[in-house]
Amino acid sequence: MATPERVRCPMSRDNRAPATTMPRPVWQRIAPGARWLAAALLALLALPAPAYPLQQPRFERISAGVYALTAPPGPPNPENRGRTNNTGLLVGHSGVVVVDPGPSRKAGLQMLRAVRSLTRKPVVAVILTHAHPENVLAAGAVAGRHAPVIASHRTYALMRDRCSECLVRLTGLTGESAMSGTGIRLPDQTVAAGTTDRNYGGRMLKLIHTGWGHTAGDLAVASPRAVP
Ligand SMILES: [Zn+2]
Repeated sequence: MATPERVRCPMSRDNRAPATTMPRPVWQRIAPGARWLAAALLALLALPAPAYPLQQPRFERISAGVYALTAPPGPPNPENRGRTNNTGLLVGHSGVVVVDPGPSRKAGLQMLRAVRSLTRKPVVAVILTHAHPENVLAAGAVAGRHAPVIASHRTYALMRDRCSECLVRLTGLTGESAMSGTGIRLPDQTVAAGTTDRNYGGRMLKLIHTGWGHTAGDLAVASPRAVP
């Protein structure tokens, strides 16, 4: 994740240039006829940011019962509200599995609305592929009290050690509003190295943790058999 810029300290009085060399204020350098336009632009910039979300995302069908919600890549910022991750959705007979729920409580609830446009089946598991904050911090909002959150044992350790700092950093990058209500939900279940077979909602999945890739705790999710 990108490191936030350092906050620049204001120039101290002793370091200021002498008054005779100070440039004219920006406002005075704008031609009088164009000042109304500059004022209008400033008024637009001063408008409050639109309420979350800007646009309701939709899942894209990959195959039978497999969907993806993709986001434009890039660093988290106030415009994208940290939603730079991809989310997977696996629909089983009796429930759905969410893979990488998103960066915040608000993003997670928005993602759930996209799930509800496809199916009314409950979320029965939330799987985290790795410990980056834009992927995992919506886990609590999406899993609720009844669905387990699952990750590799290494992702569990990374989240335990780093998530509190990552939450602060992501809030700094995206803004308090985008991250309000977001908490840290550590995985309830972990999987060891190798391949683990699990059945969630009637859908057989293979959880594959082979070690370092994107992070030390990477977990791939495979659905070998389609659910009709
Ligand atoms: Zn990542």
